[in-house]
Amino acid sequence: MVSLNAINKHFGENHVLKDISLDVAPREVVVVVGPSGSGKSTLCRAINRLETIDSGDIKVDGVSLPKEGVALAELRADVGMVFQSFNLFAHRTVLDNVTLAPMKVRKMKKSVAEAEGMALLERVGIGAKAHQYPAELSGGQQQRAAIARALAMAPKVMLFDEPTSALDPEMVSEVLDVMVSLATEGMTMIVVTHEMGFARRAADRVVFMDGGQIVEQNTPADFFDNPQTDRARSFLASVL
Ligand code: ATP
Ligand code: MG
Repeated sequence: MVSLNAINKHFGENHVLKDISLDVAPREVVVVVGPSGSGKSTLCRAINRLETIDSGDIKVDGVSLPKEGVALAELRADVGMVFQSFNLFAHRTVLDNVTLAPMKVRKMKKSVAEAEGMALLERVGIGAKAHQYPAELSGGQQQRAAIARALAMAPKVMLFDEPTSALDPEMVSEVLDVMVSLATEGMTMIVVTHEMGFARRAADRVVFMDGGQIVEQNTPADFFDNPQTDRARSFLASVL
C-alpha cells in the first residue's frame, strides 16, 4: 500500500534519511520507534511530500507520488495524517473541520459530507461535540476530532506522528483506543509513537530507526523481547 524505495533526505549537511526502504502491506500496522532526531517525523512528512526528498521513490497504492501540482493534492488525499498538535481549524466547528476537505477535494455534497462526518464523530466518541469549537474540547477530544477529519477523506493509509505526546496522561488511552479499533478494522497505518503498549497491542511490525536508518524491524514480540542490535537494546532500556 505504501512503498518507499531508497529514500534520501538532507537538511544541509545533515543526512537525516539514509536509503530508507519500507513496504507497508494493505491492512498492515507499522509502528516506527527510535530516539529523538532519528528521522521518524521527517519520514512521515516525506510520505506525503510535506517534506521534499533528495532521491528515491514513494508509491501509495502503486502510484508514484508526483512532486507537485493537482495530482499531488489528489494523491495526498489518500494519505491521512494526524500530528502531535491537533491542527484543527480554530474558527470552525468540529463538524466543519471534518466536512471541509471532503467537500472541497472530494466534491462531496454538504448533506452527504455532514452525514458521514457525524457518523465519524460518533465513531470516535465525540458526536455530542459536533457543533462546538476546538477550543471547547479537551486535548483527547481534539485529537479524536483530528482523526475523524483525516478519516473523512477515506484515506488508503493513515499516518500518525506521536499523536498522544501532547496529551495529558489521562487522555492518552481514549486516543489509543480509537487507533486500536481502526487497526482492528483493517486500516493500513504507520504510527510513530513512544507508546510501547500500543505497539505491542496493535502493531504487526515494529520498525526501529536510529541515525536516519532503519536499524532493525520485527514483530512486536520479537522486537521487545529479543532485540537484535545494541542500538535497539539501549533504546528499549531507555523507554521501557
Ligand atoms: P523526535 O522523536 O524528537 O520527534 P524524530 O525522529 O521525529 O525526532 P526528525 O524530526 O525527523 O526526528 O528530525 C531528524 C533530523 O532532522 C534531526 O537532526 C533534526 O534536527 C533535523 N530536522 C528536522 N526538521 C528539520 C528542518 N525543517 N530543518 C532542518 N533540520 C531539520
Ligand atoms: Mg518527531
